Amino acid sequence: MSRCDTLYLVVTQKENPEETDLSETENVAERPKKERVIHTRVPAVLEAELKRFAENLRVPVSNLVRTILEDAVAVADRATDKVEQRLRTAAQQLHEEREKVRKSIASDPLEGVYAFQALVINSGDECAKCHAAIEAGDEVHLALSDRPGPRTFVCADCVPSKK
Ligand SMILES: [Zn+2]
Repeated sequence: MSRCDTLYLVVTQKENPEETDLSETENVAERPKKERVIHTRVPAVLEAELKRFAENLRVPVSNLVRTILEDAVAVADRATDKVEQRLRTAAQQLHEEREKVRKSIASDPLEGVYAFQALVINSGDECAKCHAAIEAGDEVHLALSDRPGPRTFVCADCVPSKK
């Protein structure tokens, strides 16, 4: 992935469109629609963060970005630098919130696992990591650990690999 990817945004125009600094691709006076698409470049890491967060919320990335933008614009001075600062702050908060949520979720189900043994399973179960259903005959990996506990299997997608 390149360092910066183009993210396509749909921005709903609110009142005072002349004050919106995102309207650089079209003449304001000739604009017939309320919704416009803007193209912008974002760091790949921010894009990945947005995509993951949107996935967690089960909403399209564009909706998430629009919500963040609307929130930022509603609060901020409309000067470009202020909006940009707000976006950066929002992205940072997003990252911190995700970290908090991630840490509050139950500890890593694969903690203490030192190896994975590939095998064909003979009974139903679920992947310890992604909770995908595992059925008899599936090729899965048994998680090997010195700690006591139930047998733990992971699906082919969740077993670590060097790629
Ligand atoms: Zn899995």
